[in-house]
Amino acid sequence: MAVSDHVDLPTFMEGVKKRNPYQPEFVQAVQEVAEDIFEFMQDKEEYHSQQILRRIAEPDRVVSFRVCWEDDNGNIRVQRGWRVQNNNAIGPYKGGIRFHPSVTESVLKFLAFEQTFKNALTGLPMGGGKGGSNFNPKGKSVREIMRFCQSFMTELYRHIGADIDVPAGDIGVGGREIGFMFGQYKRITNNFTGVLTGKGLEWGGSLIRTEATGYGAVYFLANMLATKSEDLTGKTAVISGSGNVATHAAEKIVQLGGKVLTLSDSGGYIHDPDGIDQEKIDWVKTHKTHRRGRIEEYVTAFPKATFVAGKTPWGVPCDVALPCATQNELLGDDARMLIANGCKAVAEGANMPTDLDGVHVFKAAKILYAPGKASNAGGVAVSGLEMSQNSERRSWKEEELQQMLKDIMSGIHKSCLAYGDQGGGYIDYVKGANIAGFKKVADAMLAFGVV
Ligand code: GLU
Repeated sequence: MAVSDHVDLPTFMEGVKKRNPYQPEFVQAVQEVAEDIFEFMQDKEEYHSQQILRRIAEPDRVVSFRVCWEDDNGNIRVQRGWRVQNNNAIGPYKGGIRFHPSVTESVLKFLAFEQTFKNALTGLPMGGGKGGSNFNPKGKSVREIMRFCQSFMTELYRHIGADIDVPAGDIGVGGREIGFMFGQYKRITNNFTGVLTGKGLEWGGSLIRTEATGYGAVYFLANMLATKSEDLTGKTAVISGSGNVATHAAEKIVQLGGKVLTLSDSGGYIHDPDGIDQEKIDWVKTHKTHRRGRIEEYVTAFPKATFVAGKTPWGVPCDVALPCATQNELLGDDARMLIANGCKAVAEGANMPTDLDGVHVFKAAKILYAPGKASNAGGVAVSGLEMSQNSERRSWKEEELQQMLKDIMSGIHKSCLAYGDQGGGYIDYVKGANIAGFKKVADAMLAFGVV
């Protein structure tokens, strides 16, 4: 069959939209990948005839289940839980669990789709999956969270396994929730196995897993700047979010000589013109993680800072920007504003924080722009290392893991260069990441035949 007989990008996307009604985030994620892959596939008949992209964009399965739990007042509460197992061509399904009221099937399908390419980019044998629930942990007691996690795992346990599907944390799921879920898994199955990552150090967790996503994003950023013979010394950084990814990205920026100006949460952002140094970052970590407080209170502790309610920080002039909060938090106009203010580089710590308009703006401006599937892969990479340590019943030293993380991020950067170098000094990291991730999964799928 001649290549010209194959469906074109708009027809392909029409089909994706038709088969996934009311799933805008999923359609958006597929569109962003398909734009690059259609160009790449032009002269690659096998990928077309074997319908590889169509198959990757159709999850292997989506499990949806009821999660019933009792709150502290004795009310029966009903939430919906999901596990999306997108693709296991190169390894067991792997990806986090998100607890947030915004979670829908569309959100988890987009995340599982993205995860498939991200995990491939790490070079480790991990397929793509994602799970979660519309449960809102905000304002819940620890006992309520424990009961919810136990109920969630009471269904999830039958779908996962160390060689089947290995969930981890994501928004609303940290070490505490992983503990509750691992405890319940072990209780039901009587099996102590590496079925979750992000575990505590005493029970099979890996050093630097907590830091890995944020640190990795900054390593990637440093790699990008190095292509222009620049580094982070003296650079100003605007960061969104104030959770695990944002605070560790901030920490690494400071360690590498940069100055962090902002952090944010769903209430707004704080701007500290003096820079958010390590002491202030430690305050934010304690405040957000242990006290479960709001970023707004930063200005009481550090009065030189200002709080801007209900806004994202993209209007603050900076050299580099790291969106580390959530999907679609940086829109086309924000991207235009960053560029107008002289921003040179953007590295995504969150998954799909930039909307399609914003992606196109960054690409057209030819700035250094790394999509989350490349720059935030450090978290899942160390999860992959945690899996290896569990299988081998050993644990690596911190220096070894730090080096492995750095090497993996440099490896991803190299893969992006291999497929994204457009000549004239411009590297399209979106294209590079999409093609490198796709090719690895696609070639494995070709080997398996029509399954
Ligand atoms: N939730 C993280 C991500 O988006 C980590 C997933 C994992 O460690 O499995 O990549």
